[in-house]
Amino acid sequence: ERDWRIFREDYNIAIKGGRIPNPLRSFVESDIKKDILDVIAKVGYTEPTPIQRQAIPIGLQNRDIIGVAETGSGKTLAFLIPLLVWIQSLPKLARLEDADQGPYALVMAPTRELANQIEEESNKFGVPLGIRTCAVIGGLSREDQGMKLRMGCEIVIATPGRLVDVLENRYLVLNQCTYVVFDEADKMIDMGFEPDVQKILSFMPVSNEKPDTDDAEDEDILKKNFLSKHKYRQTVMFTATMPSAVERMARKYLRRPAYVYIGAIGK
Ligand code: ADP
Ligand code: MG
Repeated sequence: ERDWRIFREDYNIAIKGGRIPNPLRSFVESDIKKDILDVIAKVGYTEPTPIQRQAIPIGLQNRDIIGVAETGSGKTLAFLIPLLVWIQSLPKLARLEDADQGPYALVMAPTRELANQIEEESNKFGVPLGIRTCAVIGGLSREDQGMKLRMGCEIVIATPGRLVDVLENRYLVLNQCTYVVFDEADKMIDMGFEPDVQKILSFMPVSNEKPDTDDAEDEDILKKNFLSKHKYRQTVMFTATMPSAVERMARKYLRRPAYVYIGAIGK
């Protein structure tokens, strides 16, 4: 325990919330499967960044998380790796049959540029793993995006405004989407996207209202339920700053999240 405290201090990692798993010493010494490790190596990432060290093991536990770290600190991969691992764990058959039921996961970002960057990173890892990513962003034609969506994709990366539009016009359904990422949550709120976020979540068949429990055994049962029936939403939020509006948003949409703060933000 003391060793891990020192380890976290060395990397400026501060945590809040019960039962936070140990941070990663390296990519290789983790539960990340070999095919993903191979892509990490190919891309040339040798060591996880501090936010990746702590957020990845939490994400791999299918737990809600709020990650706070400055711009350029590697937050994209911190949420993408657990997301890809989770999608890989879904039965292949379901993935083939349910293409018309929409994606399994949704990543929301406040701007087109950010959504494009995430799409690029997601494709870098997803393509070799056979996991398809589609972007739903302003600027491209709705029809073209709709066509790509109908061919099936496991992950949708979207800006909230265009996503609402596409959902309301039925170019996309979220009937089996149980994993939601809010990236740059602070910016999302600044740009006034909260009503859109609320609307988007209402298109999903799951809530994050799981029975509250502090019992570890119950937690395990909940996790198994979650994985087998996809009944509950897993929600993760990443942000560079943590103003009270983001805190409120986290309380509203996340369930018993683990908090990870990197650097001076956590002090
Ligand atoms: P943030 O979302 O926190 O602003 P990004 O996820 O965009 O940061 O990452 C910033 C840059 O760092 C990107 O160019 C990305 O490719 C690179 N990067 C991410 N993780 C690692 C890593 N483990 N090792 C080296 N470079 C990394
Ligand atoms: Mg980012």
